[in-house]
Amino acid sequence: MNRRRFLHTTALTAACSVISGCYRARSRASVPLPGNDCDLAPVLVSPDREIRTVVGLRPHRPSGFVVRAEKLGEKLIIHNYGHGGGGITLSWGTSQLATELLPGEPSSPVAVIGCGAVGLATARLLQDRGLHVTIYASELPPNTTSNVAGGQWLPFDVFEFGKQSTAFMNQFLRATEFAYRRYQTLLGARYGIHWIRNYSLRHGEFDEADLEGMQSPIRKFMPEMRDLSEAEHPFSGYQHVRKYDTMLIEPPIYLNAMLTDFRIAGGTVRTVKFEHVTQLQQLAERVIFNGILLGGLFQEGEWSLSVDEATRARVLRGHAQFFGSFRRCSRTSLKDFQPDHAIGTNRSNLAV
Ligand SMILES: Cc1cc2nc3c(=O)[nH]c(=O)nc-3n(C[C@H](O)[C@H](O)[C@H](O)COP(=O)(O)OP(=O)(O)OC[C@H]3O[C@@H](n4cnc5c(N)ncnc54)[C@H](O)[C@@H]3O)c2cc1C
Repeated sequence: MNRRRFLHTTALTAACSVISGCYRARSRASVPLPGNDCDLAPVLVSPDREIRTVVGLRPHRPSGFVVRAEKLGEKLIIHNYGHGGGGITLSWGTSQLATELLPGEPSSPVAVIGCGAVGLATARLLQDRGLHVTIYASELPPNTTSNVAGGQWLPFDVFEFGKQSTAFMNQFLRATEFAYRRYQTLLGARYGIHWIRNYSLRHGEFDEADLEGMQSPIRKFMPEMRDLSEAEHPFSGYQHVRKYDTMLIEPPIYLNAMLTDFRIAGGTVRTVKFEHVTQLQQLAERVIFNGILLGGLFQEGEWSLSVDEATRARVLRGHAQFFGSFRRCSRTSLKDFQPDHAIGTNRSNLAV
């Protein structure tokens, strides 16, 4: 995925997640999701309505995430990091791949480094196998990058198209499928997960082989995908509008529930900051899962965690302009018509 496409898709996906949030949230999806695309309530965007600004990093390699085992003296380290913009999405999947690297049927306690979405999913899968797990992390929820993620279920911005190997693609598709299925077992208020509709807006045509294309390798994980005619959507100035359904994971709720599950299952959490790899050799556990790396704005090469005021103002202006340009549209396609869902019911339910 090149940088321009990367920026474009993300900005719109972010906006559309908000738009989707304007519908009444239902955890179990009726298929397709109820509601008319003309019935989207524009978000009221202005600086005085801003609650907080968060900054997070999404490190990734052009070739994709890393799941592999490595020996460090007597210890076996199983790496699982570099999920870029898709670590919430992929967490269960890459963690499953990571646990498959455990040799035999170990019974001794294992260590997991990191208490974000990836570490917690790894820990839970290991507990499912009957293992005693200790999580070692310098920060716990709510202070992880996973907590500030949007939480849209989409394995996007994880690698650069053309720079990934066939072997990686196999891992990516296996991880995506496993995670897609696992999250559906967690739908509902307790984990803060529900289905939402997404809109992808373009001035130029879609690349149908790309991740949001009709021939996308992950097409089957984006149900109800179809293009909307101009009469079916309120987005002024966009010639190409595509919609599809995915899940939304609300990180603070989800991570809390995961941590609770982990503790109920007998897991131990220790707060520790590792400054050097040799510290790992001092851990009691012989097997260590390393789920540290993190996944906003897409500014390549930018590592600062400080809020850039000019960028913040630009984001606010851009969103205000986008939502301010909504036009009226009235067409209800037969596919979308749901007699029990009165048009306009949620107009007052604005999410900022
Ligand atoms: C603004 C933003 C929006 C995003 N939106 C989405 C989205 O919509 N969907 C999606 O799937 N993904 C999204 N992501 C990406 C996602 O947040 C990350 O890929 C994911 O959170 C990575 O999870 P993690 O558990 O590896 O990392 P983290 O959540 O950062 O957890 C890392 C853990 O490791 C610990 N740790 C790190 N270093 C050390 C050390 N030296 N010693 C001890 N402990 C250490 C930390 O304390 C923490 O507990 C987004 C990211 C950002 C920044």
